[in-house]
Amino acid sequence: MIIVLKVGRSEPEIQQVVDAVKQFGYEPRLIRGVERTVVACIGDERNHHTLESLIVLPQVESVTPVQKKYKLVSREYQPQNSVLDVCGLKIGGETFHVVAGPCSVESQEQTLETAKAVKSYGGTLLRGGAFKPRTSPYDFQGLGRDGLELLRQARAATGLPIVTEVMSPQDVDMVAEVADVLQIGARNAQNVPLLAAVAASGKTILLKRGISSYIEEWLLAAEYICVHGNNKIILCERGIRTFEHACRNTLDVSAVAVAKKETHLPVFVDPSHAAGRYDMVVPLARAAVAAGADGLLIEVHPNPAVALSDGGQQLKPKQFGQLMAEIRPLVEAMGRRMADS
Ligand code: PEP
Ligand code: MN
Repeated sequence: MIIVLKVGRSEPEIQQVVDAVKQFGYEPRLIRGVERTVVACIGDERNHHTLESLIVLPQVESVTPVQKKYKLVSREYQPQNSVLDVCGLKIGGETFHVVAGPCSVESQEQTLETAKAVKSYGGTLLRGGAFKPRTSPYDFQGLGRDGLELLRQARAATGLPIVTEVMSPQDVDMVAEVADVLQIGARNAQNVPLLAAVAASGKTILLKRGISSYIEEWLLAAEYICVHGNNKIILCERGIRTFEHACRNTLDVSAVAVAKKETHLPVFVDPSHAAGRYDMVVPLARAAVAAGADGLLIEVHPNPAVALSDGGQQLKPKQFGQLMAEIRPLVEAMGRRMADS
């Protein structure tokens, strides 16, 4: 922390700051300028009392952190990319992975048909929500436990690992029985008890960015999972709330680049929820690949017109096939390869 004092402060006032800094366990170093005095505080903010509260002292102009709040997820802590193993798939390595499937698991036929289509076009993991965090309580809330059973059947039929959302700590064990990857949705991105509970499951976690989370908050949510003993985390940018409403959300391409620079974790992009409309999914997917994403999450439904959730943004299987064909040259240009090549 760097504490800048206001101009023309007396020695006792300077000493009061120095004493407070020492009291909190930091070593103060005084830098006396012509007009101002600065106190550089040596010590790790992550295991000391925060000095930010010293801003209330009348002689203090500013208190500025010089240290990042996250550690375990940072590239400083681990310079090389984390490559996660999910049922033998290597995520975050050379291979680019596409997770695809319906927004909601609706029926056996819909789930199996989608799973087979996803596999046939080169998707490597199946997504589908059994527990749905809907904005309105009157909307379809998911099939719950029955939905998990349909996902289990889809994995048995196709061999695709399952990515599915868990919304509450008490459901983690039940969902983890079927899921290979537990998804934390945007609405739960800072739900600390849930982050701790999914960490304890030992499963890989796909962590969506909160709808209005700073990148720092998203990385700190990942840090919570790490602190609770699980470093198998895939970050997923899914669009943020901005003033623009031509699309459902605004895909923050910068977040992909920043997250790749700041952390060693794999970064995926979900252009479906960012766009909220099927005709924007392919261009946003292309942007994601070009920005350096390690994978995509795409909503696919055999008949989006009758989907029980997010119908407007889901791709038909053939459109998903086109997306896969369109991203292939970009994936290769980025020095990666598609799972089937
Ligand atoms: C989803 O993946 O279906 C979903 C609800 O996503 P998000 O949490 O990003 O809104
Ligand atoms: Mn959805």
